Amino acid sequence: MDAFATWSPDAGTATASVGTRFLVYPQPPFVPGYERPELVWLPVPPGQITAGPASRRAYVRDPALPKEPYQAPYLPPFQGPCFNPVAPGPDGHFDHLEPGSRDFMAAHAFACTHRVLDICENYLGRTWPWFFEPELARLEIIPHVPWDNAQAGWGFLELGEDERTETRFPFALNFDVIAHELAHLVLMSTLGLPRYSAPSSDFLAYHEAVADFVSLIGLLHFDTAMDRILRRTRGNLLVMNELDRFAELSEEKQVRRFSNSLRMGDVGHEVHDRSKPFAGALFDTLIEIYQAILFERGLSRLDPRSFAHLRLELSQGDLERELQMTGADYELRHFPMKAALAEARDTLGEALMRSWDLLDPDRMTFADAKDALVEAALRGRGARYADRIADNFAWRGFD
Ligand SMILES: [Zn+2]
Repeated sequence: MDAFATWSPDAGTATASVGTRFLVYPQPPFVPGYERPELVWLPVPPGQITAGPASRRAYVRDPALPKEPYQAPYLPPFQGPCFNPVAPGPDGHFDHLEPGSRDFMAAHAFACTHRVLDICENYLGRTWPWFFEPELARLEIIPHVPWDNAQAGWGFLELGEDERTETRFPFALNFDVIAHELAHLVLMSTLGLPRYSAPSSDFLAYHEAVADFVSLIGLLHFDTAMDRILRRTRGNLLVMNELDRFAELSEEKQVRRFSNSLRMGDVGHEVHDRSKPFAGALFDTLIEIYQAILFERGLSRLDPRSFAHLRLELSQGDLERELQMTGADYELRHFPMKAALAEARDTLGEALMRSWDLLDPDRMTFADAKDALVEAALRGRGARYADRIADNFAWRGFD
């Protein structure tokens, strides 16, 4: 019997096995090229994400009156009056909501949250309880508070609005900000919290560097972002591009650039300052692994192993000459170059997240974090690039 005779593209079982649809803006829609949201599948069968949206891991609660930000001892669950929970469409999906509506904003914050969880679970190869379990069973997402900030903490993620934009842009529509906050929660739940001492300045600064980098890794899981970044730079990520700009709308109201050349000796103990060399080293390592893969596959003549620090040693003139490629030339290589970037992303993303099992939150220093990263790379798919990681972090002063 012909197998196709019994197969229908609309069969409920076909979608049930794939997941539930949401729409997500990879970057705020005022960023050119990101005006339209991208379809994202969350790996939960339709029907298992209920009105809220709500899942086994998280739920949205949208207060009807202005809510004060949480601060201990004022903590979830939120008990006041709320807008109606956002319901799925008749097919169990949430991609029917109108962008710009309050319901869309709530579903967007929920989808970004789950997307980051999904990515982290994939790299870690496991799931984990929230650090606030069993006291609280699930993460509460407050998609809108009248506040110029965003924060995550004991059982909550709450999102204000960015006052620097003309229209006070809601953080609920900003994937970067949500991913950064989620990364803090994932790190607190997997690496853990210091039990015997106050968090050290290295521990706090490491949190910030990792939160920014997880947000970047998250961005690189969107086709819109991968295609735009690669096509705009013709695959040459050694030049400035969206990757550098991504943290502009962070909750700390700072422009934190990955593309910095700061070493540990250049920064003090202020947490965000102190996070910059580690974040910069992660960014450079990502680019070098990408470049190494391109070289191995004959897609570039530039061998990163012939430089101690590729991105900082090349002059702009060298770059132009080495990596000159016309738009038409680039288009003939777009898909293999995209595959190389995805592989670099996954190599470093996996090593970073698996390094958390090797760290002790009570005692860890940046040097320990670097050693754990190299060790995790050696144990996994990053073994071939462990030298690139070690060199980049040594150059930054993590010895
Ligand atoms: Zn942060």
